[in-house]
Amino acid sequence: MQQLSPAEAALVAAIDPAPMLAQVEAWSAINTGTGNLGGLAEQTALLAEAFAALPGEIEPAEPAQVETVAPDGSLVAGAHGRHLVVRVRPMAPRRLLLTGHMDTVFAADHPFQTPTRLDEATLNGPGTADMKGGIAVILAALRAFEASPAAAQVGYDVMINSDEETGSLSSAALIAELARGKAAALTYEPSALPDGTLAGARGGSGNFSAVIAGRAAHAGRNPGWGRNAVVAASDLALRLKAMESAGLTINPARIDGGGANNVVPDHAVLRFNIRPRGSADAERFDRATYGIISEIEAEHEVKVHLHGGITRPPKPLTPAAEQLFGLVRDAGAALGQPIAWQTSGGVCDGNNIAACGVPVVDTMGVRGGAIHSSDEYTARRSPPSSPARPPRLPEPMKRISTNCLSSFWKTSKLPNSAGPRNCSRASARRGRSTAIAWRR
Ligand SMILES: [Zn+2]
Repeated sequence: MQQLSPAEAALVAAIDPAPMLAQVEAWSAINTGTGNLGGLAEQTALLAEAFAALPGEIEPAEPAQVETVAPDGSLVAGAHGRHLVVRVRPMAPRRLLLTGHMDTVFAADHPFQTPTRLDEATLNGPGTADMKGGIAVILAALRAFEASPAAAQVGYDVMINSDEETGSLSSAALIAELARGKAAALTYEPSALPDGTLAGARGGSGNFSAVIAGRAAHAGRNPGWGRNAVVAASDLALRLKAMESAGLTINPARIDGGGANNVVPDHAVLRFNIRPRGSADAERFDRATYGIISEIEAEHEVKVHLHGGITRPPKPLTPAAEQLFGLVRDAGAALGQPIAWQTSGGVCDGNNIAACGVPVVDTMGVRGGAIHSSDEYTARRSPPSSPARPPRLPEPMKRISTNCLSSFWKTSKLPNSAGPRNCSRASARRGRSTAIAWRR
């Protein structure tokens, strides 16, 4: 049975859950939908104020330029909020990365805007679990850690991005830069299951837009002259779907295009998402897609231009990652919290960090559930029929923050990774996929 040392027990005892909860409630009341730049700026200012409690430098990071494909097939520059980076002891011999995101999936005009205490065990509100609760955990754990003598030997960067919910396209390069040379990383997404089970291995994810150019014609007078882009897009969707296997799912999600009923449509945009389980599945997709697009171009006499790529590479459970999960499990055991993990079909910034060769546990945040819905909550929800008295609201947050602290304490004893695997591997993959450009 693992036990806390007296020094660890003293650090844990100093964590006060009440201000953490108040923070989450206040932050949840600010709308930070990924597209709400005003709300994100307001949230960034509050986070900078809160993280000023730590030593080190706080700096906003400009979002990278990201182009998206409009329904007419043209490329438009997307607007993103700034990200926040806190750097503490950058010259320390051991350095760690902690990450979270301030954005939520709820846009400024979504009806779900206000946090509500449902009962003494449950706080409902936008981002309470995913993942403003996790940001409060990061801060509380680091403040406690800073009081320990071990802190002098450990440096860390904290990165809170503003675009995780749309795939971290404007923060991917920043994440890769910050991951470089770190011993380990912890990301504060909510637990995979409400009981605290963590996400272990993750598959990858890629988003694509196939822009198809055909030829317009009168649908009655000379339909044979037309090259129907909507039909070609539909055929492409069917062929992509037929490529699915146990290690690769493909979701054709939307087709834009066409116009009047009496015109053969000359343009269409097919959008689809892929979920490769491992890198071999991702490579198989790359190869097969090349052939399928060539077939569509030849058979429908259209031009296809494929945009996008795999922006979340698959995250296998490497030996280094297993070691890090082991530390988190041991920290949990010392606190009386059994910690387990399971494979997840979801993706997050942990995928990008792992692609840099840095071990990461990416569900270190609060317990909660119903994320991405108006029922999102944090803290432990008692079963309605439970005869046991429901726990007081702050307790689950305290338990998870103490686990985080304890894990952080143990992680801080890890040596730095032998040398960063080339962080650009993920971006190289992205580049290659994006470069599948077919306009001729
Ligand atoms: Zn999240």
